[in-house]
Amino acid sequence: MEKIVENIQAIQKKLGQAQLVAVTKTQPVEIILQALDAGVQIVGENRVQEAEQKFSIIKEKFPKVAWHLIGHLQTNKAQKAVKMFDLIHSIDSEHLLFAVSDAAKKINKIQDVLLQVNLVHEETKFGLDIADVKPLLKRSYELDFVRVCGLMFIAPNYEDVNQCTPLFQKMHQLFLELQKDDEQIKFLSMGMTNDYELALAEGANLVRIGTGIFGKRNYAK
Ligand SMILES: *Cc1c(COP(=O)(O)O)cnc(C)c1O
Repeated sequence: MEKIVENIQAIQKKLGQAQLVAVTKTQPVEIILQALDAGVQIVGENRVQEAEQKFSIIKEKFPKVAWHLIGHLQTNKAQKAVKMFDLIHSIDSEHLLFAVSDAAKKINKIQDVLLQVNLVHEETKFGLDIADVKPLLKRSYELDFVRVCGLMFIAPNYEDVNQCTPLFQKMHQLFLELQKDDEQIKFLSMGMTNDYELALAEGANLVRIGTGIFGKRNYAK
């Protein structure tokens, strides 16, 4: 048995002003409910379909909990995504941003999103080149149904976690630059179980933690 409550409390103590996204992929509803009972306010899911299976039952018990999509989104799932998620962390192309805007328009919602940045291309496939971030932010101003609220970054899985620090610093610098001209920019989503303390030290204000709360994921189930 993982000590979910103790894990959450220990993480909360380190967060300061940052907010915790409890990453619940592969976790069944009963386990997620334990985390919500322990005070978790944001649930992060990777896949639309998996989130859908848990959404209504959890929503009924915890209507105020926020739902964040943190995994890659395919445009054909945009309609379902905008129905469920308060914040989509994973906008990684102009095409997807426009698709989310179209989907949000259909339900008359303004969808909050983050732009996912890829600083180290050999490690992860998704995310925008750093050079494409500002142009895409500018283009987003033409869209009435999406609001870009910040940046998301997934650090590579380095053997020495300290190698993440310069990348987190680069993200923070970009975040501050964008914030200067745009008061909607407020979230810097970076940091996972292995690297969140380093991310917090470099200005992350949303951390996404799964293993550190629930223990090792069992993908086989
Ligand atoms: C799974 C996942 C996390 C959480 O990872 P842990 O190492 O279990 O904390 C965070 N962000 C994204 C995008 C993920 O897919």
